[in-house]
Amino acid sequence: MKRCLICNTYYDLQRNCPSCGAFPAKLGGFDAYAPDLAYGGGGFKPSYFAELARLEESNFWFCARNKIILWALKKYAPRFTSFLEIGCGTGYVLSGVAKNFPNASLQGSEIFVEGLSFASQRLPCVNLMQMDARAIPFCEEFDVVGAFDVLEHIKEDDVVLREIHRALKPQGIIILTVPQHTWLWSAADEYACHERRYASNEILSKVKAAGFYALKSTSFITTLLPAMMASRFSKKHVGEKYDLTAELKISPILNFTFARILDLEISAIKLGINLPVGGSRLVVCQKI
Ligand SMILES: [Zn+2]
Repeated sequence: MKRCLICNTYYDLQRNCPSCGAFPAKLGGFDAYAPDLAYGGGGFKPSYFAELARLEESNFWFCARNKIILWALKKYAPRFTSFLEIGCGTGYVLSGVAKNFPNASLQGSEIFVEGLSFASQRLPCVNLMQMDARAIPFCEEFDVVGAFDVLEHIKEDDVVLREIHRALKPQGIIILTVPQHTWLWSAADEYACHERRYASNEILSKVKAAGFYALKSTSFITTLLPAMMASRFSKKHVGEKYDLTAELKISPILNFTFARILDLEISAIKLGINLPVGGSRLVVCQKI
């Protein structure tokens, strides 16, 4: 069902709210549910999208994260038919989901219209919308909702989790990835407009508080944690000029090596091992 953000009426299919007549704006060809935030919503630098779109397809980190997300979908929601990604950016994750689940109905949302423009080039068959994750215009609509390295950009992450809970069908699945360990905070997090890095149990506690039951919680980017610490702590000082994309522009040999190392830890996660430390955390939970 859709949910009217003006009068909170639930309704199906039609574009206009049957109660108050409200309907989403159109920006750049996309339905826009929070048009005031579409170009200056904060929490991210839209200029970063072009660089991301160029780098993420071959970069070890984005490839490894996609493998983990696709594994989680296959294991915990093997028969899902509807999926919403919040903060879909340039659509790299959605493109992997589309290839692996060709019959599923996929939707992607992003607060910045600029990201949606890149995503629509990758994903001509996916429904994309501009939306504020703190006000999701759906109720019991999706089998799975994912947000991958998104919550750390939003001050009111607890609000977002409650909105996702309402947007999921009963027993629906939430899949999240977040940056982990407060002690890893560095200039890279400031550059990326992060509100926080999560302590080990913090994200799971917040998801449970929003009404979910935990199915899986594990660190990842564990084996590369020493390399990550070396990179981050060499430029830790606040205000120091920092180029996050420099971390992504590594040599092809190093990129290949890091990818194979991460394949080993992905194998461990697939075997059921929950890794205690790592640059990121994966959480999979079910709506109670
Ligand atoms: Zn209404």
